[in-house]
Amino acid sequence: RFPGFVLPCLGVHPVQEVSPEEQRSVTLKDLDAALPLMELYKDKLVAIGEVGLDFTPRFASTVEQKEEQRQVLIKQVELARRLDLPLNVHSRSAGRPTISLLKEQGASKVLLHAFDGKPSVAMEGVKAGYFFSIPPSIIRSEQKQKLVKLLPLESICLETDSPALGPEKQVRNEPKNIYIAAEYIAKIKGIPVEEVIEVTTQNAMKVFPKLQNFLRV
Ligand SMILES: [Zn+2]
Repeated sequence: RFPGFVLPCLGVHPVQEVSPEEQRSVTLKDLDAALPLMELYKDKLVAIGEVGLDFTPRFASTVEQKEEQRQVLIKQVELARRLDLPLNVHSRSAGRPTISLLKEQGASKVLLHAFDGKPSVAMEGVKAGYFFSIPPSIIRSEQKQKLVKLLPLESICLETDSPALGPEKQVRNEPKNIYIAAEYIAKIKGIPVEEVIEVTTQNAMKVFPKLQNFLRV
């Protein structure tokens, strides 16, 4: 009923779900089935993602697992470059290694979603022209509040990450809560919420240029 209302990304995530109870670190073999699909649907995709690094100890505890996550990410940065698509990047307990890898690999159009690293590390990403998307959980996350204080508005996007990262812990997040993130950013920056909405929308179009075909703003 609503063509072009939800736009897809495809990517191989650093954490793979074997079953609802079991998750494991990604391997290079996981790419085999996915890369041809990403290639096949390239014209429909707005980005490659979520890809990234997740060094949460229960998923990646060994040097080998972390290295394999890096190799999987490198392959997808290469693909994104070849297809001229941006990257939607997940990083958890891996802020610095993720930004270092992206810069080393020359990734240019990058959105770092729900970045949980140090604000000073995020600024390394800002220097490289990367964008950071902020979810509604900012209202209960001191780390995200500090991040927004330091990030220029010109580097910020909004995200829901629904059903995760809602304003209330353990409660299912909804897309409409994106407004909560906008309001909180406005409060921190001391500017009207309309300005946050306007600038973050422009930022989203910069990082995901294909959005311009679907949105009239
Ligand atoms: Zn994620």
